[in-house]
Amino acid sequence: MVSNPRILVVGAGAGGLAFALECATRGTKVRIIDKRSGRSVIEKATGVAAGVWEQLSKFDISPKTVETAIPMRNFAFYDDGELVANVPVPLIEDNPPAYLYPQGELERHLEKALSIRGVDVEYGTEFHSYEESNSSICVKAQTKGGESFALGAYDCVIGADGAHSAVREAAEIPFVGRNYPGNWSVAEITTTEWPENVQAQLFLQTNGEGLFLSQPAPGLVQGILNGENAAQQLTALFTDAELRYERHFNVALKRVRTPKKGRIWLIGDAAHVQSPVGGQGLNLAIWDGVTLAEALLTGDSKVETILAKRARRVLLFTDFDYRMLSTQSHVIRKARNKYWECAAKHPSLARWFFKIISGIW
Ligand SMILES: Cc1cc2nc3c(=O)[nH]c(=O)nc-3n(C[C@H](O)[C@H](O)[C@H](O)COP(=O)(O)OP(=O)(O)OC[C@H]3O[C@@H](n4cnc5c(N)ncnc54)[C@H](O)[C@@H]3O)c2cc1C
Repeated sequence: MVSNPRILVVGAGAGGLAFALECATRGTKVRIIDKRSGRSVIEKATGVAAGVWEQLSKFDISPKTVETAIPMRNFAFYDDGELVANVPVPLIEDNPPAYLYPQGELERHLEKALSIRGVDVEYGTEFHSYEESNSSICVKAQTKGGESFALGAYDCVIGADGAHSAVREAAEIPFVGRNYPGNWSVAEITTTEWPENVQAQLFLQTNGEGLFLSQPAPGLVQGILNGENAAQQLTALFTDAELRYERHFNVALKRVRTPKKGRIWLIGDAAHVQSPVGGQGLNLAIWDGVTLAEALLTGDSKVETILAKRARRVLLFTDFDYRMLSTQSHVIRKARNKYWECAAKHPSLARWFFKIISGIW
């Protein structure tokens, strides 16, 4: 723990780590706590956008330094078992729009870079409540047994504590939007049968289910389904599949109208949640963290509007992607498939799509 830090970051996921790292790199040490007992072993995101790599390169974290990141070059798309398109992914500013890389690995790099700068995550410390005065914000944490204790006084608190944010709840900041229907599932297998020249595959069905497959690391395949049986559908596609895990989760499209209230700021999933379709949650959390830290330390007063505006646009994009993926309308499916067939022949047609994915806008 650093002596007398004035900024408290709640949550050491990608968003909180990115915020703390930007601060530490600029010479402002923060205190960062997480309620878990150690780094999460649950994998979530697999796609890391070019814009995020660009932001992280100043911490010496880039596709060159992590080495095993896989550039997104081809994307295949099937409808009811038929190949619709195998799309060569266009470069955005001379780079692939995203690289496949496991979220957990990226977080480990962020945490190590933070530790090198003298800040260690305080695990096993759970945010409980706060009281704000004119001059500071006094925070209480709680033990595993539910006993609360004073955690100190700060100039501001960064709520980077995920979709079910306790900071957001304590600040009574409304989280508006809606839930997507049904249960979703994610599964991961090992296999040697992943095709060589494709980095992501999407299997759509007439019933509106879509199985998105990506390869976070050689020999590993992750499948996300807007339905309950990702493991069953995934293992059926590869004869040597060995299941590593399957998890179920719910998905919502929600955001705070503004990420700031008094001395509280919200970033990442604490401020906005969306469907994993379009692969934006991790990327937006890191972008929020770096952007907010830069702005707070340089006194950029427009950051509140900038964060809210970007979140709104990203949520619009992921919602559009979700609707296209899950539509059961015959007419829309036909138009969608025709569009991607054309994009396979003329990749520049899909440039707008991959530009948004890249986060460089
Ligand atoms: C299956 C799946 C696939 C996904 N794929 C992609 C993808 O390909 N690309 C992409 O960009 N995004 C993807 N996402 C979304 C992405 O994983 C999240 O948006 C991202 O993890 C958000 O980061 P965060 O730091 O805001 O929150 P989190 O990762 O949720 O981290 C929050 C941290 O806060 C801690 N915490 C919670 N409450 C407290 C408390 N009271 N006190 C202290 N600590 C607390 C938690 O322990 C946790 O470590 C996917 C999500 C899922 C579920």
